[in-house]
Parts: sequence; structure tokens; C-alpha cells
Amino acid sequence: MVNVTVWNENRHEQKNPVVRDIYPEGIHGAIASFLKEDQVEVKTATLDDPEHGLTDDILNTTDVLIWWGHLAHDEVDDAIVDKVKERVLDGMGLIILHSGHFSKIFKTLMGTTCDLKWREADDKERLWIVEPSHPIVDGIGEYIELEKEEMYGEHFDIPAPDQLIMMSWFEGGEVFRSGCTYQRGNGKIFYFRPGHETYPTYHNDEIQRVIKNAVNWAKPADRSRPVYGNAKPLETIKEKTDS
Ligand code: ZN
Repeated sequence: MVNVTVWNENRHEQKNPVVRDIYPEGIHGAIASFLKEDQVEVKTATLDDPEHGLTDDILNTTDVLIWWGHLAHDEVDDAIVDKVKERVLDGMGLIILHSGHFSKIFKTLMGTTCDLKWREADDKERLWIVEPSHPIVDGIGEYIELEKEEMYGEHFDIPAPDQLIMMSWFEGGEVFRSGCTYQRGNGKIFYFRPGHETYPTYHNDEIQRVIKNAVNWAKPADRSRPVYGNAKPLETIKEKTDS
């Protein structure tokens, strides 16, 4: 059983009735509820919970952390960000959604500004699958189409992804690297673009499928961690003689 924690800033839901109507249980609640269909153990955590809901206990038992944030990236405690980073390097999977591109944890792990172009104008979005054999797009056709979404455009200031899984096209003409994987230490990271709070994107079956697949892909590998430091030889090293 994979243990997933869905973390959401949960601020738009408090301030904006449009968002509350689309996600009455919050974005975290919507994501948790479709993940539960998949035999996954799901917890949710939000910014305003003590320690943002990411206590040592929770972090140490989380296999995959999903992150949605936008308005309040700066309010996330640096000490918590450090702990999340440490867990990712130790093997915890991390899925960064939409405006999480500007979260402290994503920027720290990428080492770049993670900046991009954006526009809220009801653009149609078509996410083309450019790595069709990747497990994250199992069950998905040539593309996913979203009737209305916020536009994110290149240039997206990220390091070159280990694997680029999806490229978005927007009605206004821009393109964007929408599905990117990275490995950092023992951990696997997936950035997935769609999910602006005023659109029902997380109710879309194909978007849900991608997130479910990503959980399965990002869960920690079933192997022991590498050993570092001073090492005894595996073989007897022959004495070198001066000739
Ligand atoms: Zn947005």
C-alpha cells in the first residue's frame, strides 16, 4: 500500500466562492478522493495545520507527497522545506502541481528561478504526450484536451528535465513543458502543469489518471540506500612491490 500525503495551501478555497464551488472539500480533498479509488492510503495536510501538517511522523511515513500552492509560498516555513527536501533525497516521491512551480521546495530542488509566462483568459489547452512509453501516461491517448485553463508559456526556467513527458499547446499560441520528471538523490519528482483553481481540472478523468500513474511511478524504490564514506576493500588488495 502506497502512503500518499496531499498538501494544499488551501487559501483560494477560503477566499473565492468560485473555487469553493468547484472544490467543496478543497483541492486536497478532491485529489485525495480520487486517489482513494486506487488502493492508496491518503492523508491530507494544509498550510494552516500545525507544522503545515507535515510533522516528522507524517513525513517519515509518506511515500509520495503531492504539492499544490500559489498565494502563500512565502509562508511555508524554511525548516519544513528542509525536512521535505531531506525526505526527497532519501527516496520520498514528490509531485508538484501547477502553481507549485514557484514553491520553495520545487525551486530548491531545481536550483533555478522556475519562472514562466502566464495568462488567465480561458485558453484551450492540449497536452501532447511526447514520451508515450512512460508509465505516467499509461492509458492516455495522443493528447489530453482541457477546454479552459490558465496559460503557462515558455520560457519555463527549469533545468532540462530527465524526461519530458508532455508538451502543452495553448489557444493563444504558446507552448509549455507540462510534464517533467527529475531524480534528486534517491527521490523521484514529477512536475505536472494543469490545475488552476478556478477550473475543474482535477475532476477530469485523464488528469486524475496521470496523477494516479505518477504516484505509482514516484513511490520509493524497494532497495537499500547507497552506502557512503570510507570503504573496506571487497577483495584483498595485493601488496605493491617496487621493481
Ligand atoms: Zn494558476
